[in-house]
Amino acid sequence: MTAAVSVAPSPGMRELDGQVALVTGGSRGIGRAVAKALAEGGAKIAVVSRDGVRADQAAEELPGEGHRGFACDVSDSGPAAQTLKAAEELVGEVSILVNNAGITRDNILLRMKNEEWDEVMLVNLKGAFNMTQAVSRGMMKRRQGVILNVSSVVGLSGNAGQANYAASKAGLIGFTKSVARELAPRNIRCNAIAPGFIRTDMTASLGEGVVDGLVELIPLGRLGEPEDVAGVARFLAGPWARYITGQTVSVDGGMVM
Ligand code: NAP
Repeated sequence: MTAAVSVAPSPGMRELDGQVALVTGGSRGIGRAVAKALAEGGAKIAVVSRDGVRADQAAEELPGEGHRGFACDVSDSGPAAQTLKAAEELVGEVSILVNNAGITRDNILLRMKNEEWDEVMLVNLKGAFNMTQAVSRGMMKRRQGVILNVSSVVGLSGNAGQANYAASKAGLIGFTKSVARELAPRNIRCNAIAPGFIRTDMTASLGEGVVDGLVELIPLGRLGEPEDVAGVARFLAGPWARYITGQTVSVDGGMVM
């Protein structure tokens, strides 16, 4: 018989004490709420976004000490690697990576411009590749790490007017499964979160009529809040999820089943 193994932190400890999390797009919306939840779990946070002032401010407002903001466009591999290096010097060795930075450039297929397709792929998909490649070397050496990719239910269901965005988010799910298989032997877990419609700047331009229509499609009867996603990220980053890898967890009020 195997002895019972406890995954709960020791008394007086939090489950992410001693960990460092790098959260892309951590200055606003879902990323900011994820950064806060991980900080509440005890992690030190490197907040990354293109706007360095906002990244610094978001880092300052996190609970606890030792968080820092970094200006970086994750779609560019050179700056992504430099940002990781700076974060490891100033905050510590990154043990949790959250690839959350993402954009939309919606258009119907026939009108979609090359730039709209390319920009979305570069930020949403290549950005995750850039940061994951940069961070994985250290994680592999240390034989410890968690990678979370923020996908979307739209990557599972598709959405008219979002061929570029849906393709990038579906791509992230394939990326997640491949990275999970490749890095599992080094004790690195990789999972995706697929949020539904969450109240952030990204969805702020949806009119009231559109929101009412969406709510009718959501069994739990409301749009999500960034904190709804953040709690799942904290769970997946922590010890209770230690046997979960390669999965996509939908956080969508039951919209896509
Ligand atoms: P948001 O409010 O628009 O925030 C996006 C964040 O990403 C900001 O911090 C932004 O900061 C950063 N960012 C954008 N492009 C970047 C780049 N090239 N390099 C670095 N940082 C960049 O978006 P959100 O709604 O919180 O969405 C966060 C993630 O969840 C995205 O991947 C999105 O696709 C996904 N998601 C959102 C929803 C939703 O309903 N809101 C649903 C499903 C999935 P800067 O502008 O300063 O760079």
